[in-house]
Amino acid sequence: MRLIGCHLSSSKGYLAMGREAVSIGANTCQYFTRNPRGGSAKALDEKDVATYLTYAEENGMGQLLAHAPYTLNGCSADPSVRDFARRTMLDDLQRLEHLPGGLYNFHPGSHVGQGVEAGIAMICEMLQSVMWEDMHTTVLLETMAGKGSEVGGTFEELREIIDRTPLSHHLGVCLDTCHVHDAGYDIVNDLDGVLTRFDKVVGLDRLKAIHLNDSKNVCGARKDRHEKIGEGHIGLEALMRVVNHPVLVHLPFELETPNDLEGYAREIALIKSRYQD
Ligand code: FE
Ligand code: FE
Ligand code: ZN
Repeated sequence: MRLIGCHLSSSKGYLAMGREAVSIGANTCQYFTRNPRGGSAKALDEKDVATYLTYAEENGMGQLLAHAPYTLNGCSADPSVRDFARRTMLDDLQRLEHLPGGLYNFHPGSHVGQGVEAGIAMICEMLQSVMWEDMHTTVLLETMAGKGSEVGGTFEELREIIDRTPLSHHLGVCLDTCHVHDAGYDIVNDLDGVLTRFDKVVGLDRLKAIHLNDSKNVCGARKDRHEKIGEGHIGLEALMRVVNHPVLVHLPFELETPNDLEGYAREIALIKSRYQD
């Protein structure tokens, strides 16, 4: 079964989010585990989770993708910022054990001038301290655009994080099409080449989800500004080659394009109309 959805709000609970997804033709979605700016998470409503699971079963909802607040920075130069990231991630991962999903995506972080090596060391230290041996969630490193001092703008940096985290069997990768394009990977003219490179460096078996976004900027711009599907520098044809690529078709695809609900519904319908089976 192909999985297509978009980023939705979870503020009204899982059932409301599931209904919203189904109403726009989605069968997966991504949601923030808490306010995207951080802050405390709502108490877990077990009844809502149980009702959602039944609803999901009856309405063909597939795997969900949880996203950590994008403000977390596990490799900040400020120890209190690092500690906040660590505590938030630990709390998220403990809660996710009781929640639908199984995938938790986060931005590796920005080393803010300390250097990539120092940044990676701190990220690995954080990951190792918030994961545990028999957890059920796979933690996904998102491919980043390489804006500023972002870590994770190259496949090699992601590989290094995986290699240096002892509990790496719980780690995977989420590929964001806007980010890899902005980072300089030419998915428009050489998708196969980029995927071959990814496989060589990281391994396609680590790839667990796709963020499907067009980009407001040219390849290699290191900017990270998402555009609506077909309206940016990647374009509809190239994005559909990603959606229909044989090694990717089984993954959940989440739109993070600048859209309201109706816009998402239109993009989902457009993508479905171009599925090649
Ligand atoms: Fe993200
Ligand atoms: Fe993304
Ligand atoms: Zn982005």
